[in-house]
Amino acid sequence: MTDSTTAQTSLHVIVVGAGAAGISAARSLQDTGCRVTILEARDRIGGRVQTAYDLAPHPVELGAEYIHGANVVTWDMVRQFNLTTVSDVTKDDFHIYFGDRIHSGDDKSRIPSFHLVDTYEDIAIDWVEQGRPDASVHDVVTKWAELNNADLSPDLQRLVNSRVSAREGGDWARLGVHGMYEQNDNPGGNFRIKEGYTALLEQAVAGLNVTLNTPVQSILWSQDRVQIHSTTGQTFAADRVLVTLPLGVLQAQDVRFTPSLPPGKQAAINGLGAGHVDKIAMRFRERFWPQDMAGILTTLQSQIWWRPGWRRDDEAPLLMAIIGGDAALHFESLGADAVPEALDHLSAMFGENARKHFEAGRFISWGTDRWSKTGYSYGLVKGAGLRDQLAQPVDDILFFAGEATHVTHSGTVHGAIESGARAAHEILKPEKLKADI
Ligand SMILES: Cc1cc2nc3c(=O)[nH]c(=O)nc-3n(C[C@H](O)[C@H](O)[C@H](O)COP(=O)(O)OP(=O)(O)OC[C@H]3O[C@@H](n4cnc5c(N)ncnc54)[C@H](O)[C@@H]3O)c2cc1C
Repeated sequence: MTDSTTAQTSLHVIVVGAGAAGISAARSLQDTGCRVTILEARDRIGGRVQTAYDLAPHPVELGAEYIHGANVVTWDMVRQFNLTTVSDVTKDDFHIYFGDRIHSGDDKSRIPSFHLVDTYEDIAIDWVEQGRPDASVHDVVTKWAELNNADLSPDLQRLVNSRVSAREGGDWARLGVHGMYEQNDNPGGNFRIKEGYTALLEQAVAGLNVTLNTPVQSILWSQDRVQIHSTTGQTFAADRVLVTLPLGVLQAQDVRFTPSLPPGKQAAINGLGAGHVDKIAMRFRERFWPQDMAGILTTLQSQIWWRPGWRRDDEAPLLMAIIGGDAALHFESLGADAVPEALDHLSAMFGENARKHFEAGRFISWGTDRWSKTGYSYGLVKGAGLRDQLAQPVDDILFFAGEATHVTHSGTVHGAIESGARAAHEILKPEKLKADI
């Protein structure tokens, strides 16, 4: 008979990726006595969590921005690390750029069929609950508009799609309603971490063994051992490996598995959407947008703008665009012209030459970033059920975590954290059983 600690400390686990999922898993595994090594390609931890501390007097989020919801797992860490938060906008603080002019507050209700911006999700839920086959959000909303004589003008379509693609990751023409139905809401509002999201992960990673600048190139696995080769020429051996690679990186097959992943796993990788979601941060000498505007949803390809310093005493005159779906692909194709085009959008919206006030701009292209190749994952039409398939371990040797593996909270930091904890549990389960014999 062995006690559980002996059984667990004997395991050496390699975690690939030091994002929220990898850090959460490594923490759980190490706290239970496993030997854990995290291999990370970048020269920093955090992955798609990246706070800039050099753009403004306050932190600015280049990747994940909010804690979505008042009760998600991230709050445990916020409290544990004594971090502080700022609650974000209510709907009324958001303006709308539609029909070449800015609408605010009650004025929004004058936009024909504006309610679709908020109700597309309910329409999709109804569709699924009526037992209808999977279809794109675009097709379902269009059908609903036809049946209800709603005015779905091209401008309104652009507005709804701006909301859908920045929020869900995929363009509404590809986003499947069945996949969207799997996702749960996060009630209670959105919150920024005052010290920056990176501060949260920096504290969570303290005491863990992370090897930065070490891109994994190949994973050789058998039923009882794993060998990992990095592009830096190093070889690492372990009893188990936890893969937290972003979906875009898995789809690109940047890491070679030998033997290949089973067909069901590969089908899950290929069958989900690796959405492109990018950001453009702009700093100005002074504010030239309405004082009461927390953000603005637009019909333009820059989709949504908000104020990263909203409700902070030390707010700098900064605007951040968040752009998803085909609009993100458009900005990625512009390269160095992305920031100038975004400036033109601001000039058009606010009727003021934005260049006159401009100080610095940064395009953060997560969709083309070498180590993410996606902003976040989304469910394509007929993509429902694949997240669970992506999450399944292979031969109790290869384990999988990361936002794309979370069935109900994909595309979020809390989903990534929970997926890491789930995978750690799966890794330990057989050991626990052995120890109990
Ligand atoms: C623009 C944007 C805005 C967002 N806004 C929010 C938000 O407001 N709220 C929210 O909750 N979520 C938001 N998200 C989503 C959130 O950032 C992600 O869901 C979450 O951070 C994913 O964590 P992860 O650990 O699954 O993946 P990642 O953070 O991507 O971690 C994977 C790690 O693997 C590493 N890696 C890649 N290839 C290799 C390799 N070959 N070898 C070794 N390591 C490798 C990567 O460098 C990375 O560090 C946003 C994302 C984006 C892009």
